[in-house]
Amino acid sequence: MNIVILGPPGSGKGTQSELISGKYGLYYLQTGDLSRKLAEKNERIKEIVNSGKLIPQEEMTLYVLDHLKDENIDLNNILFEGFPRFVSQYEALENFLKTKSATINLAISIDISREETIKRISARRICIKCTEVYNLITDPPDKEGLCRCGGRLIQREDDNPESIEVRLRYYENNTKELIKYLENRNFLIRIDGSRPIQEIFNDIVEVIENTNAKNTGKN
Ligand SMILES: [Zn+2]
Repeated sequence: MNIVILGPPGSGKGTQSELISGKYGLYYLQTGDLSRKLAEKNERIKEIVNSGKLIPQEEMTLYVLDHLKDENIDLNNILFEGFPRFVSQYEALENFLKTKSATINLAISIDISREETIKRISARRICIKCTEVYNLITDPPDKEGLCRCGGRLIQREDDNPESIEVRLRYYENNTKELIKYLENRNFLIRIDGSRPIQEIFNDIVEVIENTNAKNTGKN
């Protein structure tokens, strides 16, 4: 099953994506990671990523499709997070999958308010040693400022208030179109992301099971 997860920064879509891909054995395509890897090799991309902006949409599409081809990934078992964000990317992905007899089976949006996004991201900390992510509000470390592994916790360069604002505005302006597009196709499932992690996860599992049952029924 191929699943697309949407949601503003701080909605917990990364946490949910890990849980879902773990439970269903999906390849987790995390474009945040992919972008940061590209940034290490490319100054221009580094500037874009650090300012909280997005890699231009067509360019990102090429990187993602190249990645899918290069890594020999099972194109029927992927969880997409952070891509697609635009209608053009969604259609490019759908067309690419079609050539491999695959499709997007499910699109989920995890929704939280603007205020909640800013509050949650400002509280995010990352370990400089093992890159584990903590949240001072929802998932604080046992020892202040320190990771389980002993590494120091810092705020990621793109988690400052200015970058969050930029990302949020980008999210609202750009993903809005994709959300509208998916809603018009009656294809978007909305999940309330303001609740505890386990509750959200249970809801998503139910949606996946329903979709699986429907797809099996068709065969
Ligand atoms: Zn650590």
